[in-house]
Amino acid sequence: MKFETKAIWVGQEADKATGATIVPIYQTSTFTQEEVNKHKGYEYSRVGNPTRTALDTCLASLEEGKYGLTFSSGLAAEHAILSVLHPGDHVIVPEDMYGGTYRLIKEIFEPVNIKFTFTDFTDMELIRKSFLPSTKMVWIETPTNPTLKIFDIKAISEISHKKNASVVVDNTFLSPYFQKPLKLGADIVVHSTTKYINGHSDLIGGAIILNSKELYDKILLVQKSIGAVPSPFDSWLTLRGVKTLAVRMRQHEQNAFQVARFLQQQPNVSEVFFPGLESHPGHAIAKKQMTGFGGVVSFKIKGGLAESNNFFKKLKIFQLADSLGGVESLANYSALMTHDYFPKELRKKIGVSDNLIRLSVGIEHIDDLLADLQNALNQ
Ligand SMILES: *Cc1c(COP(=O)(O)O)cnc(C)c1O
Repeated sequence: MKFETKAIWVGQEADKATGATIVPIYQTSTFTQEEVNKHKGYEYSRVGNPTRTALDTCLASLEEGKYGLTFSSGLAAEHAILSVLHPGDHVIVPEDMYGGTYRLIKEIFEPVNIKFTFTDFTDMELIRKSFLPSTKMVWIETPTNPTLKIFDIKAISEISHKKNASVVVDNTFLSPYFQKPLKLGADIVVHSTTKYINGHSDLIGGAIILNSKELYDKILLVQKSIGAVPSPFDSWLTLRGVKTLAVRMRQHEQNAFQVARFLQQQPNVSEVFFPGLESHPGHAIAKKQMTGFGGVVSFKIKGGLAESNNFFKKLKIFQLADSLGGVESLANYSALMTHDYFPKELRKKIGVSDNLIRLSVGIEHIDDLLADLQNALNQ
């Protein structure tokens, strides 16, 4: 079955009890048992709920993995993955990463003695040199937020497996429609389903997809013990969003391409970041490991915070807001929004400068989006 068909039908067969064509919202905390320990597969909704199972199954199928697990946020999913580590274990992570992941590492995992080495993942030699005998995991996020650097999933997975380390890929920016990390050699895929997978900016959610039964059991135990699970309603909304993932991603990408090319021609713009542009340093790897370039475009406006604020104020369609991946276009000032937790020097090193603006290009009509940007850039 092809991606578009799976998004609509896998895990979502007509309800056996009632014939409901669409998966019902099983809004219940508990399930009546026939006898002690005899039930229809569900006991208590922290552990499992049929609406959530439908979502888990569908997402696993879209990533071409065996197991899917969904969470109440992307960060809860990331927390569950890192929770399988033990004090003294070492993880290699990119310097470029989502601000919340960086904070999770600094505030929650480093204090309990999980060790992290931050390095530049565009340099394979630096990654190779970062391995220690205690390295258990390598964490990849590609394309990165917000500068859209591209890291080579296949090459990094090969080195990591030689060292017996598991590879995690945060696939939030592309969704399984444009990138399937498990097929490229990764062991675990993690998503903030808040973004493209749900796609409508109306909930917070996360997901993990993987093939190893051993890792699945460990993460499942964390999920069951901590309980950061999505509600039946959020699971249902996410499923509803997933049905249109393919068509949305195609339109996001088409609009993003046009926005990137438009920005390149603007006198008030000094640099444009979009992996689909041939001038992008990661373009060759992007073409190899992705089937599309996504819907996020970042750029440097000439000036700094004042010029950026002028731009944001003049926007009418693009909203100044955190987040990305919804059908509506958003603009973000990374240095003081998504990346405000980063130390200033690290922000500077990874290119999150005071004039960097990230656009999540929505699926409104491209003419309206370009007119909005044109008007806001004419200062
Ligand atoms: C948003 C985001 C997260 C965190 O997900 P939440 O759903 O906000 O908890 C993790 N990684 C990336 C790349 C993100 O964009």
